[in-house]
Amino acid sequence: MKVVVVSGGVISGLGKGITTSSVARLLKARGIAVTIIKIDPYLNVDAGTMNPYQHGEVFVLDDGTEADLDLGNYERFLGQSLVGTHNLTTGKIYRTVIEKERRGDYLGNTVQIIPHVTGEIKRSIREVTQAAGAEVALVEVGGTVGDIESMPFLEALRELSYELGEGHMAFLHTTLVPTVGPTGEAKTKPTQHSVRELRAIGIRPTMIVARGPTPLTPEIKAKISLFCDVPPEAVISLPDQSSIYDVPLVLEAQGVGRHLTKLLNLPDREPEYAAWKEFLATYRRGDGELEIAVVGKYTELRDAYLSHTEAFHHVQGRLGVSIRLNWYDAEDLPRDPSAMARLRRADAVLVPGGFGPRGVEGKMVAIGVARTEGIPFLGVCYGFQMAAVEFARAVLGLPQATSTEVDPHTPDPVVCLLEEQNAVADLGATMRLGAQRVILEPGSKIASIYGRNEVWERHRHRYEINPAYLDRFSSHGLRVAGRSVDGRVEVLELADHPYFLGVQYHPEFLSRPEAPHPLYVELVRAALVRKEVPAPVAPPPAHA
Ligand code: GLN
Repeated sequence: MKVVVVSGGVISGLGKGITTSSVARLLKARGIAVTIIKIDPYLNVDAGTMNPYQHGEVFVLDDGTEADLDLGNYERFLGQSLVGTHNLTTGKIYRTVIEKERRGDYLGNTVQIIPHVTGEIKRSIREVTQAAGAEVALVEVGGTVGDIESMPFLEALRELSYELGEGHMAFLHTTLVPTVGPTGEAKTKPTQHSVRELRAIGIRPTMIVARGPTPLTPEIKAKISLFCDVPPEAVISLPDQSSIYDVPLVLEAQGVGRHLTKLLNLPDREPEYAAWKEFLATYRRGDGELEIAVVGKYTELRDAYLSHTEAFHHVQGRLGVSIRLNWYDAEDLPRDPSAMARLRRADAVLVPGGFGPRGVEGKMVAIGVARTEGIPFLGVCYGFQMAAVEFARAVLGLPQATSTEVDPHTPDPVVCLLEEQNAVADLGATMRLGAQRVILEPGSKIASIYGRNEVWERHRHRYEINPAYLDRFSSHGLRVAGRSVDGRVEVLELADHPYFLGVQYHPEFLSRPEAPHPLYVELVRAALVRKEVPAPVAPPPAHA
């Protein structure tokens, strides 16, 4: 087993997740079996209870784990699905240690950070790597070196490198090289300090990835090499890129793949990037321009909807049409006539998931515009539930219809809790989560979009469409086109509309650069048809 650790210095938010994903991709491109583990040093057990304003989107895995959004980047860059054990948190590690202590597993010993907590961390990393059948595990350490929270993890990784021995572990340290003054002089001092911090805990970085606005000059590379004790070819310049999907190739061009395989005594085969490069070439083609309106509650923080944004990038890389996302704050929309006018000109509308009463009226206004003006529409999770409510109000004439999440006493609970959720008190990990089978109605639009009658999609919700309203929906043209195995409504589609689709699940979590999600591809195609741009002919691949 070999391990590549990716740590971060100077500041957070340097794009460590993208660096980690990209390095993993370099190894995968050489036919090496890789996997990725994310360490989040916070005390939360998982990201499920965290506000998207603080950490961005909660990413859901097949097994129902509510994970950090970096897990989404890993899956997209590797084209591999991960499970919950790949997201280690302080909360999970301590919970396990305390459970073991209560069982008496430590045989009377004093339970301490070293060796018990660090031991548990090492055990988890070994176990996850083995279970994934990986030759190399990348381990991204969240936060910044020097944080108290991440100390036990870095200590565990130091111990692990000793245990695995020479040539089995590489430490890649990501830092910021800021530029100052009128000439934009690059400064290496913060990097020097942060490397010193790392060495103080016994870790010598084997590679430095320098982030910053511009490429490093050879002089600056030489300076970092000298002060930080790494060879010049191990100082990598990673300036900001126009697309995150360029990063693997930027790293490859500087020999990162070759250098890493040498460090880890791995075979250095010729890397293979054909599909990746084709994706980037199509992405850059950017014929025409489409505007997609995204109407949500967390629009100031784009990371809150990261997987949706990426799904549209994937479509751009498949269809070669340039896609612009316009963000609308659902709460402001109804009182902002100019935003309403812009929305009416949008080529498609997406209403993503969400929670709670704030902004629901605005979401329904947007859905109503899309429904009545024939604008292609995709409603995801809460967006799907609100499409049902909007329809009940406007078409069935039930003005007080809503979800019981918004008003528990509504006379028309079009969306409500099923019995199993009524008994739930805890908020953590108690929703309907993860990959579930969805049976599609033969002959429905959605079945023809997927090209199949059965799919697995990821879920994260508590409330459901109330079956009592389905007959009225369908007699007015809003039909159930997909159900779970136990009969829950998963898909609603509108008959007389070019593209009006609501799904209870989250298709955005399964879209990947080399396999864009068909629901997004077809939403964009419908928008192109409406704009009378001839749609590109290449069909989307069958979704895995
Ligand atoms: N709040 C809704 C529910 O719990 C939708 C959740 C979501 O959009 N992820 O059912």
